Amino acid sequence: MEFETVIGLEIHAQLKTASKIFCGCSTEFGAPANTHTCPVCLGMPGALPVLNRKVVEFAIKMGLATGATINRSNQFARKNYFYPDLPKGYQTSQFESPIVEHGKVEIEVDGQVREIGITRMHMEEDAGKLIHNDSSSYVDLNRTGTPLLEIVSEPDLRSPQEACAYLKKIHAILRYLDICDGNMQEGSFRCDANISLRPVGQTELGMRTELKNMNSFRHVQAALEYEVRRQRDLLLDGGKVVQQTLLWNPDTGRTEPMRGKEDAHDYRYFPCPDLVPIEISEQWIEEIRATLSELPDARKNRFITEYGLPEYDAVILTGDRALAEYFEEAVRLGPDPKKLSNWIMTELMRELKGEDFDNCPISARQLSSLLLLVEKGTISGKIAKTVFREMLTTGKDPETIVAEKNLMQVSDEAEIMQVVMEILAANPEQVEEQRAGKSKLMGFFVGQLMRRMKGKANPAMANELFNKAIWGENRP
Ligand code: ADP
Ligand code: MG
Ligand code: ZN
Repeated sequence: MEFETVIGLEIHAQLKTASKIFCGCSTEFGAPANTHTCPVCLGMPGALPVLNRKVVEFAIKMGLATGATINRSNQFARKNYFYPDLPKGYQTSQFESPIVEHGKVEIEVDGQVREIGITRMHMEEDAGKLIHNDSSSYVDLNRTGTPLLEIVSEPDLRSPQEACAYLKKIHAILRYLDICDGNMQEGSFRCDANISLRPVGQTELGMRTELKNMNSFRHVQAALEYEVRRQRDLLLDGGKVVQQTLLWNPDTGRTEPMRGKEDAHDYRYFPCPDLVPIEISEQWIEEIRATLSELPDARKNRFITEYGLPEYDAVILTGDRALAEYFEEAVRLGPDPKKLSNWIMTELMRELKGEDFDNCPISARQLSSLLLLVEKGTISGKIAKTVFREMLTTGKDPETIVAEKNLMQVSDEAEIMQVVMEILAANPEQVEEQRAGKSKLMGFFVGQLMRRMKGKANPAMANELFNKAIWGENRP
């Protein structure tokens, strides 16, 4: 029997506001425990919330960026449950009346473009954090009340790769809009993945499991792949998938049950009596629309037309705003766009190992200068790699390194010819073979020369001079 995979994601994005959603406390990450708290976010009886206008603005931005409907009237609701990181005993969220509905984004996997629906996006507050050690548990309420945008997709995703592509697209859009820092290690961007299988051809959804709180693209994909196999084996064995919440354990490479899955009615949602319904004017929406910056898809298309880059390069370079800006800053200084793209995608990305381009050890200007040194023939492409390594460790400008280490390419004919003659004299047999046309030894000769000249000879000139010396005027 063949099965179809069905995945829907709930993404939690921390909004990049200076203060919390219902009080003036700072949202800064990493402060000493419980220092960013007040009666409101500690949930003291009688303390009243005041909505942060920026949170609404950011939610509208994301709605507009995904072609969604902005519900001009919307409302907060209380989601009631008990947990030690939630001092109020309820989370202020949105339920029946979210601020955004019916959005969509395009994803591309293996050259196939698909549109993924966004059911809804709603504003809510984050909970605090529990810190466990061997014998005790501690609670840090600094995060309590940090604004979140929950982005719920339709069950439109058909493979773990599509889920990962969708997650990356939402991440990129949030970063382009500058409304979420997207830092997954710090938990600013995390997701719950719902997954089920159904026999191919069946329209009804299968029983799903939910993978909670994943904070890396790689883990999401690996966990979903594991879950596809697990559910498939179970169904083929005649078993049933149990609706439950699972945790991914990256160390064992397995999912582990966390708890039975609760339904909406378990939370006793009701409209929050402390917060008046939100009314958004058409004018405000239009003001926000006017501030929207260029989005990843538009930028990708522009990179293709403006810089003549292949689609593949354009997708990678625009996948993150900081990276796209790095590229544009560098290309403005004049190097060949495709060469620049190659350097960024291979050398630089290998060094960064997924680190943010905001913290790139080599500035856009420095990388540009390095490429221009190659284009002008000051250094060879091979020496450029050496200079690049040196730039990484010392942070120095390429011009400085080239001057200090005397790495300038030698384009002096007489100087190169001198070495050419020495090499020919030292290898008479090879010269004969080459003359007889029996072998192609040009690589051997040039290699010898480069070794002697420490890679600094102009390679085109070296080739030319070997030909001249071996064949004279009778070159075949
Ligand atoms: P909750 O998980 O909070 O109960 P929903 O029932 O609205 O919320 O579903 C949340 C997510 O799960 C959505 O992204 C939705 O697309 C997805 N989903 C719902 N049912 C299934 C299913 N049978 N298989 C896969 N994904 C599903
Ligand atoms: Mg859920
Ligand atoms: Zn507070």
